[in-house]
Amino acid sequence: MSALDDRLRHSLAQLHENGTYKSLRYLTTPMGPDATIDGLGEVLVFCSNNYLGLANHPEVVEAGHQGLKKYGAGTASVRFICGTFECHRILEERIANFLGTEAALTYVSCWNANEGLLTNLVESGDALISDELNHASIIDAGRLARQATRSVFAHSDINELESALSNVNSAPAKVVVTDGVFSMEGDIAKLPELIATCRRHDATLVVDDSHGTGVLGTSGRGIHEHFGLPGHGPTGIDIFTGTLGKALGGAAGGYVAGPRDVIDYLVQRSRPQLFSNALPPTVACSANKALEIIQREPERVAQLHQNVRTMRDGLKSLGYDVLDSPTAILPIIIGSTADAIRLSNRLLELGVFVIGFGFPVVPEGTARLRIQMSAAHTDQHLERALAAFAKLKEEC
Ligand SMILES: *Cc1c(COP(=O)(O)O)cnc(C)c1O
Repeated sequence: MSALDDRLRHSLAQLHENGTYKSLRYLTTPMGPDATIDGLGEVLVFCSNNYLGLANHPEVVEAGHQGLKKYGAGTASVRFICGTFECHRILEERIANFLGTEAALTYVSCWNANEGLLTNLVESGDALISDELNHASIIDAGRLARQATRSVFAHSDINELESALSNVNSAPAKVVVTDGVFSMEGDIAKLPELIATCRRHDATLVVDDSHGTGVLGTSGRGIHEHFGLPGHGPTGIDIFTGTLGKALGGAAGGYVAGPRDVIDYLVQRSRPQLFSNALPPTVACSANKALEIIQREPERVAQLHQNVRTMRDGLKSLGYDVLDSPTAILPIIIGSTADAIRLSNRLLELGVFVIGFGFPVVPEGTARLRIQMSAAHTDQHLERALAAFAKLKEEC
């Protein structure tokens, strides 16, 4: 028994003891407003990022089939050698068109996109400034960008950002990075103030809108549409990152979208591009179809917004403390981690799949149930879910 084995066994035992050990649940049906969990049966799904219900849309599935038939399983190469198919160009043009940027570049995940972008955007002596609640992929990307001076500002605190920028006044380049929608709070970045502050300090604003794209704005373009701002130019966001694994088809993949020079530079320099294979064509074709459907059927976005309102109002009238926001993430603050986990287990028994998040994912004492809405939820799904929440309230 090596020291490492010993340590792993101890760490795992600790997780079991704390009640924070995660067991995987296996779905035996496609992702949808309901799904079947192996050993548990059918449940209503209120914890996926399938915001527009496109993960199992027949056209999205068919586009994947066609991609597989046309291009085979994959590139067997990185992009710059012989690993770029026509479907990559088509998808990247569509992403840029949808967001309103000059160009876009896909990665196998948004995790990779954030690493590829942030590590290459900053050079020695530059500044990289990040919101404290940013996604783990941004935090890790920042750790890789160790050539830069890095700092963190309190969540959405524009005054702190202002002083962080003043502190790096002489840095040749300054990059500010934020989530568009924060996944644990469900709140939105203060985009107009962020843009104004960045302009004042000649800083570049990067927004990872993974939970906002397909969700915010009347046509689902994301946080900039929500605020009536353009996808590029002096009054807009400088660079977007995002995922194809949430509203945009739900398979996998991510992208950077922004000025043509930024994209061109990433093709030349970013390591996940240079040393790792491209998106499989099945995924590229499915994501392209998902975007086509969103542009063709903006009523899906309207339905999502309607479902969010119905669920929020319903939960509030049952006496739940739901944080306010226009996103599709509805956190209910419970308090202790053990309570949040107990309640989510009880909800699952009642046929509603909602996850409880506690420490260390969120601060101690703010453990929560996180409900995520989809355009695919019908009125009946919402009624059944609210009935389960009503029963839960009674029991407490
Ligand atoms: C989900 C998410 C990611 C990760 O996306 P993948 O494509 O699955 O790697 C990155 N950033 C944010 C803000 C996210 O919410």
